[in-house]
Amino acid sequence: TEACLAAVEGAGALGAFAHVTPELALERARAADAARAGGDAGPMCGIPVGIKDLFCTEGVASQAASRILEGFRSPYESTVSAQLRDAGAVMLGKLNMDEFAMGSSNETSVYGPAVNPWKVDDRSLTPGGSSGGSAAAVAADLCLAATGTDTGGSIRQPAAFTGTVGLKPTYGRCSRLGIVAFASSLDQAGPMTKTVRDAAIMLRAMAGHDPKDSTSADLPVPDFEAMLSGDIRGKRIGIPREYRLEGTPDEILALWDRGAEMLRDAGAEIVDISLPHTRYALPAYYVIAPAEASSNLARYDGVRYGYRAPLSQGDGIVEMYEKTRAEGFGAEVKRRVMVGTYVLSAGFYDAYYNRARKVRTLIKRDFEQVFDQGVDAILTPATPSAAFGLGEKGQADPVEMYLNDVFTVPVNLAGLPGISVPAGLDRQGLPLGLQLVGRPWEEGALLDVAEVLE
Ligand code: GLN
Repeated sequence: TEACLAAVEGAGALGAFAHVTPELALERARAADAARAGGDAGPMCGIPVGIKDLFCTEGVASQAASRILEGFRSPYESTVSAQLRDAGAVMLGKLNMDEFAMGSSNETSVYGPAVNPWKVDDRSLTPGGSSGGSAAAVAADLCLAATGTDTGGSIRQPAAFTGTVGLKPTYGRCSRLGIVAFASSLDQAGPMTKTVRDAAIMLRAMAGHDPKDSTSADLPVPDFEAMLSGDIRGKRIGIPREYRLEGTPDEILALWDRGAEMLRDAGAEIVDISLPHTRYALPAYYVIAPAEASSNLARYDGVRYGYRAPLSQGDGIVEMYEKTRAEGFGAEVKRRVMVGTYVLSAGFYDAYYNRARKVRTLIKRDFEQVFDQGVDAILTPATPSAAFGLGEKGQADPVEMYLNDVFTVPVNLAGLPGISVPAGLDRQGLPLGLQLVGRPWEEGALLDVAEVLE
């Protein structure tokens, strides 16, 4: 813990941490020492971790990287961070992210962007987003592991950009209680780690049924680490032909082929599969996620949480709402609220929101059919490129940024587990990731395949 705190202090330029809590960390580290001495060490006893700023942490700022939550102190701890604490993990502080987890580059954060520790010619690169601080912190050895959340790729894409492992569990595997809601039917917490084995250990500590989250599944949590057999002989790995998108760089395609070869060499059978509705995933996601966000973010009204704008003489409650939300939300969040409100409005609801929900069902069925045919996991690239430069994407056209999520969003729409594993370097020496998608609730089997790629 002391070594990590020193590393965090020395790495301020990365902007990975939004709030550091050294006293609390040292106190928990001492408690971990005592537990170990007493023969009562939890599965993550004494492991220094970072917690994404989207998780509510008691007594510690929890701001979702937004101005509108300035000064907010949560009266309770999120279930996931409480379980990690109870497993012995030592929280070092809160990690930078995109505002309300909306973004793919960490540039929408009120704290300013996190920076990727990987560099090319001194160009500052994004660590990805929205869990960019988590990915940067793990990649730069500021902590041994971190929590992330993934609504459309926010664990897997930053993992791919930083050469780390990022696992989005099956929807419902981890409790969402105390995680600031973005799109409730898609949000899921997961581990961001250096290795697949670490992800297995950490997922077990994070997962489990929570009676306070009605969407959390009442299923036993297996010992994922014990399921790492190293033996994937006979497993069927699907390669979805619709993911071979026009314009995907050759080196991403080559990486994908190499990954398939590695799995084949380990005894897996590689099969060509079809997920015919893939091309509709991104547009459906960018209707459903903003719709849910516009509803979830209605609670930030200047009364109950955080920031309230200074008012002028004669301002009433409507002016208070308007000024607070105008000053408290950043541009991307406002864009999502506007799109979401529009697609939910009378007259457009059927044309956009209901249509998107139908598409979502078709996407889910695509995956179900493939799994029914005996496919155990699906292999795809994690991202269409390596990390890009800060300030380089999405400035004039936000859709340019959205396109980054093309390989990750279908997995959230279908509620499936997905993992990004570091799989090599591009020509410039930057990390690239491959994604594996598994059957619902079979994170253990997914991690087992993922370890072969590592
Ligand atoms: N980049 C996607 C978005 O901006 C996904 C974000 C996420 O998974 N939280 O919505």
